[in-house]
Amino acid sequence: MKRKTRLIHGGINSDPLTGAVSVPIYQVSTYKQNGIGGHKGFEYSRTGNPTRHALEELIKDIEGGYAGFAFGSGMAAITAIMMMFNSGDHVILTDDVYGGTYRVITKVLNRFGLEATFVDTSNLENIKSEIRTNTKAVYLETPTNPLLKITDIEAASTIAKDHGLLTIVDNTFATPYWQNPIDNGADIVLHSATKYIGGHSDVVAGLVVVNNEKLSKDLHFVQNSTGGVLGPQDSWLLMRGIKTLGVRMEEHEANTAAIVEFLQSHPGVKKVYYPGIETHPNHEIAKKQTRGFGGMVSFDVGSEEKTTELLSKVKYFTLAESLGAVESLISVPSKMTHASIPKERRDELGITDGLVRISVGLEDVLDLIEDLKQALE
Ligand SMILES: *Cc1c(COP(=O)(O)O)cnc(C)c1O
Repeated sequence: MKRKTRLIHGGINSDPLTGAVSVPIYQVSTYKQNGIGGHKGFEYSRTGNPTRHALEELIKDIEGGYAGFAFGSGMAAITAIMMMFNSGDHVILTDDVYGGTYRVITKVLNRFGLEATFVDTSNLENIKSEIRTNTKAVYLETPTNPLLKITDIEAASTIAKDHGLLTIVDNTFATPYWQNPIDNGADIVLHSATKYIGGHSDVVAGLVVVNNEKLSKDLHFVQNSTGGVLGPQDSWLLMRGIKTLGVRMEEHEANTAAIVEFLQSHPGVKKVYYPGIETHPNHEIAKKQTRGFGGMVSFDVGSEEKTTELLSKVKYFTLAESLGAVESLISVPSKMTHASIPKERRDELGITDGLVRISVGLEDVLDLIEDLKQALE
């Protein structure tokens, strides 16, 4: 089955009882048992719900893993993954991870004894040099947010395997349409499904796919124990979003390519960050491990004043956190998504006050370019 077909025919895509071509929303908490233990696979909706199960089967299929899991947010998914570790365990993470990931690791999970080191994982030597006796996993975000750095997943997971570590990949930016980290050796893949997978700015959700039975059992145990599950209505909305993921990603890609070309030629733009640009330091790796470069672009306009001016002038780019939806969004990472990272650290990473991030939507690209043009004047 080819990828676009799998998005529509993968998982459990219809209702065998009625023939309905979309899985019904099972708005239910508990299930009748014919005698103790005599259930049909569902006992209580925290443990399992048919609509959520259909979504979990679908994401498993499209990421090419062993089992899928749906959570109430990307952060709930990340937290559940981390809860598989023990106090005293150590994890190596990409340094410019999503701000919320940095926060939960350094302000919440640290209180339970999870140790963490943040390094630029696009340089594999940094991973090797941080491995300790108590290291259990390498957590990669690629491409990163907002600087679009790329880590070689295959090479990183080879290092991890050699040391008996798990490789975990936040695949939110690339989406399973463009990138399948399990094919490159990762053990766990996660998504903030709030972004491209939902795709319409109407759901907050997280998805995880693991590549073997042991991880599946361990993660289901945490999911059921801690309870951060996704409800049936939102599970249904994600399945609906996934059906058009392919056509949406193709269109995001085309629009983004045109916008990148425009930004690169504009004198008011100091620097453009996009893995599809040939001079991007990780362009070759991006080409090797992804089928597309995605719809996220960051660019530096030089100063906070210029940023403020740009924001006040754009018409079609909505100032908002989040990304990956049909409408184009614009944000200032230093003030918004990455505000929870201390300023010294932000400057170190290159997340300056002049850095603007756009999520290119599905409007007509000529309107989008015209809009940026008048706003940059
Ligand atoms: C948004 C985001 C998250 C967190 O997901 P939520 O659904 O907002 O909880 C994690 N990783 C990345 C890359 C994100 O963009």
